[in-house]
Amino acid sequence: MSWIPDWLTSRSRLTPERIAVVEAETGKRWSYQELNQHAEQLAFVLQEEGVKKGDRVAILAPNHLSYAELLFACAKIGAIFVPLNWRLALKELKMVVEDCTPHLLFYHPSFHEWAKRLPIQKKMDHQEWKKRNGMEMRWKREEPDIEDPWMILYTGGTTGKPKGVVLSHRAIFWNAINTILSWHLTADDKTLVYLPMFHTGGLNALATPLWYMGGTVVIGDQFEAEMAMEVIEREQCTIVLMVPTMYHRLIQSPAFERNSFSSMRVFLSGGAPCPLNIYDAFIKKGISFKEGYGMTEAGPNNFQIDPEVAKRKKGSVGLPMFFNEIRLMDGRVEVTEPEKVGEIWIRGGHLFGCYWNNPEATQAALQNGWFRTGDLGKRDQDGYYYIVGRQKDMIITGGENVYPTEVEQVILEHPDVEEVTVFGIPHEQWGEEVTAVIVLKERSTLTAKQLQNFIRKRLGGYKVPKKMVFVDELSKTAVGKIDKKELINRYGL
Ligand code: ATP
Ligand code: MG
Repeated sequence: MSWIPDWLTSRSRLTPERIAVVEAETGKRWSYQELNQHAEQLAFVLQEEGVKKGDRVAILAPNHLSYAELLFACAKIGAIFVPLNWRLALKELKMVVEDCTPHLLFYHPSFHEWAKRLPIQKKMDHQEWKKRNGMEMRWKREEPDIEDPWMILYTGGTTGKPKGVVLSHRAIFWNAINTILSWHLTADDKTLVYLPMFHTGGLNALATPLWYMGGTVVIGDQFEAEMAMEVIEREQCTIVLMVPTMYHRLIQSPAFERNSFSSMRVFLSGGAPCPLNIYDAFIKKGISFKEGYGMTEAGPNNFQIDPEVAKRKKGSVGLPMFFNEIRLMDGRVEVTEPEKVGEIWIRGGHLFGCYWNNPEATQAALQNGWFRTGDLGKRDQDGYYYIVGRQKDMIITGGENVYPTEVEQVILEHPDVEEVTVFGIPHEQWGEEVTAVIVLKERSTLTAKQLQNFIRKRLGGYKVPKKMVFVDELSKTAVGKIDKKELINRYGL
């Protein structure tokens, strides 16, 4: 049995007056003391509703301060926090709820209709419980063991059905340590997060700065480029976390050119491969931009890179973080040569414990303390890592391996291309045929042939997409990644 302190109580004792969380849209803010009071009141209400140690408590809400209240209320009473992905269809959401069987659902009024239809007995509006204020708030701390689960986060569902990833207090603890070290977080950092709070990126960004030194987290809900820039200026943010599709919209906005971002220390991108033109837009302005790599099972950070190096090694995620080990594997053999592609395996205290209700998937993913990510990567001569893409996405055409990300990056270099995704479709002769689905910039007259010529000058012939489909828009997953699965179904046949 190992003891783990209640983070928020410690923080509120040490820096009660500092601002913990801010709502980006309204500017509403709570100090550490206030946040802790809210979390304690909620802990009391949850216990009154019969929530016991180990019970799941789900939340269905847009990005909102209530995530912070509930996350820490759960920690205080040993309950398991389950943020629900509200971008799923109701049917999918029901499957998630049936999988983790929450004792109680905490919901935002905008999700009232959905909340009504979810098979959970106890439901509570996120404001309703506050009416119980004024009662004697006597909650009983249920000390979790450091190995007890703190949360179940469902994976993005990019490759299949979302899996419930069980993260212990230990995993979150090591994630925080690693993040603090790799971001060089200080008490003066103000982190703006637009990533959804039901996702590892959003949640980690919420929890970590609160834990350390009393930094502030600004929670953004609906991403809109101009608004995001106003918030950065108003709150004097120092760190921003977004996915590449949001950065894409940010750099397209006319206000991006005008903005000097004088308060900003670093912009961080993660969750999906980041097009190199996004790097260029920031480098041109002399602003630090870095790419992170992670996943629900191992937290959003696994590498670190110095901003100066990031400029020279565009597209690299850097070196493995301090308390983290990375291997590249070809089957059961470790890849040691530079530039050779292998599957990324990760080992460290920040790893998940298991998939909820899914021992087969757990067994396949975890081996002797290593997590097999299913992603491919390579290392350069200096030991810096590059993410090549998902193993499942790799195309084999005429016996040659084609990594879609490499082809996508080249297509994005064409000034007429707005967005692209590349995948393989079955082909009688070649096994698979490289296919690209492309969104062109407005008024572009670029033809498939012209684009193929452009690619052929930069890549081997077998990597040039034989089939090209031009569309108005690419569908995205819940966290804003390009939804390859859906696009393959729609255009891949
Ligand atoms: P599922 O596991 O359900 O298919 P998912 O893998 O998309 O969904 P997440 O855990 O949210 O769910 O996403 C992690 C994945 O995102 C990584 O395994 C990797 O494939 C991809 N990813 C994250 N960061 C990067 C990056 N910087 N470059 C390329 N891919 C990335
Ligand atoms: Mg995954």
